[in-house]
Amino acid sequence: MKTLCSALLTMVTMMTVSAQSPSVEYTLGMSRPWTHLFEVEVLFRNLPAGESRIDLSLPVWRTGRYIVFDFAGGVVEFSADNGSDKPLQWEKIDKSTWRIQKKATRTVRARYAVYANEFDLRTRGLNDEHGFVDGTSVFMYADQYRSLPVTLTVIPYGDWHVTTGLQEIHGEPPFRYTAPHYDYLVDCPLEIGNQNDVEFSVEGKKHVLSVFGPVTWETDSVLNTITRIIRMNKEFWGDLPYDRYVFLFRAMPGSSGATEHMNSAVMGIDPFGFKKPGGYDGLVGLVSHEFFHTWNVKRLRPKSMDPYDWTSENYSKELWIAEGGTSYMHGVLLARNGFRTPEKYVDGIAAAVASDRTRPGNEAQSISECSFDAWVKFWRSTEQRFNFESDIYSKGSHLCMLLDLEIRHLSGNKHSFDDLLKTMYNRFPLGGGGYTVKDFQKVAEELAGSSLSGFFNDFVYGTAQLPWERSLLYAGLVLEPIDTTDNRWLGINTRDNGHSALVTDVIRGSSAYDSGLNSGDDIVALNGYRVNGRDLERRLTDFSYGDTVTLTVFRNNRIRDFGVTVSRQQNASYTVSRIEEPTPLQRSIFESWLNTHWGEEAQDAHSSTDEQ
Ligand SMILES: [Zn+2]
Repeated sequence: MKTLCSALLTMVTMMTVSAQSPSVEYTLGMSRPWTHLFEVEVLFRNLPAGESRIDLSLPVWRTGRYIVFDFAGGVVEFSADNGSDKPLQWEKIDKSTWRIQKKATRTVRARYAVYANEFDLRTRGLNDEHGFVDGTSVFMYADQYRSLPVTLTVIPYGDWHVTTGLQEIHGEPPFRYTAPHYDYLVDCPLEIGNQNDVEFSVEGKKHVLSVFGPVTWETDSVLNTITRIIRMNKEFWGDLPYDRYVFLFRAMPGSSGATEHMNSAVMGIDPFGFKKPGGYDGLVGLVSHEFFHTWNVKRLRPKSMDPYDWTSENYSKELWIAEGGTSYMHGVLLARNGFRTPEKYVDGIAAAVASDRTRPGNEAQSISECSFDAWVKFWRSTEQRFNFESDIYSKGSHLCMLLDLEIRHLSGNKHSFDDLLKTMYNRFPLGGGGYTVKDFQKVAEELAGSSLSGFFNDFVYGTAQLPWERSLLYAGLVLEPIDTTDNRWLGINTRDNGHSALVTDVIRGSSAYDSGLNSGDDIVALNGYRVNGRDLERRLTDFSYGDTVTLTVFRNNRIRDFGVTVSRQQNASYTVSRIEEPTPLQRSIFESWLNTHWGEEAQDAHSSTDEQ
């Protein structure tokens, strides 16, 4: 009896404490969606009476895109009261922070609207068709209460519903959710509309395929593909670190881009073209990449992002591991698991070498610096990017592939990049403060069984040309340049623009660069005859090296002529083939790397590629 009484007393005490602990509740409304304004309410209860003020902030960036957005710019009609309509004084103290003078009141309610009209950036969007919320761009936080559990009530417009990775509190009103803390809340984006949701189960875990917009794919094929990708990752990592995962697709013409989150991914896709041969290839790569991030970067995080700092840039020299490592693994896992043939994968390596070696930026900026400076360079896509900047995705993935082959070679194929990522994942659990490049190098050296300081100094911190020939030979592959003595070139990369060729890059030191051609120029004619992006290269074959052609372009809506000399491009194309007689180590590296057999019957893998 005494025990029961004391247990009851403990429960009452706990309930009292719980009732008196600060709590945070969010409400999200959208009564007039065509105005692009979300209506937000943040309610704090049981605040300490002794705190005379509370500061509310909106993050300056969102996860997955390392650039400052300054979300506070979209906030309008801010007000604060004591929860009973008694206004509280407030003022802004910096670009993202509102200071509320609460005095002795224990309840503070802030209300504001957020202008939301950038679906493509996957931050916040609202129109008469649907709404999307990445919580960093909409929900304010008080730093000292950031670790408290929160609730969110969404009031959808009309007959819309909510799809999210947040845990739902079933009951009335509907669309109520809970999150263990603010950072989790804002890492679970919301789609609000009439999106089509299909639930399915894989490995005992619930998953949701959610699609906004019309799409021509076969849902069963997509479910089958996604299921295979989930299983592939479970086999790789050993766990599925969530209870429920949501694949949020936005299917709109021209839509692209994707972002990973704690237990969901947001992906933009073009709704058409799935029925043509290879129509699902892009989707497979996209899902494989975003889903792999569930571990690499959402849980295995660089030091600067564990925890996130919402107030400014989270400088990180590790983004090439987060993005490049994911890009490399998402591709090689597809090859190992039957989505791509090993031959096709090896073909892709030849293309990768060409792309790596024709980008001047790879010699101008190290991948470490490229990661660190992503906040001010990478996503700004300036004209000089190709010439002076590297790329955390492509160069990062190339470097991870070469590190993989290096570890396999040095360890006698006992260890690999797989082991590196998995060891890092176990050794640096989320919440433990994250990892640095130095940690990554240390684990790689443990697995390789020898120092990798030369590799990291040359290729991570330095700008030495990647040793593709040496690394590929570890797997019995020979890289050779294709004879480029007959490869006419102006020094530009272009994109077909229908009836014209849009210049995307002007390569430093080329004749186009010296002749004054600019990125963004729209080439409409070559020597007076119409030309487009599809036949520019063919038309150049009519000329000899040293000839000057006249390119007619539209620049700033004004027509201009530029004389550009036809020159010869070096080392633009490569082949990768298997050596005649591999050593046992080369053979075993090739076979385990791509999960295949060297096989007498297998054809040599050949490839060539043009500048891209
Ligand atoms: Zn990524």
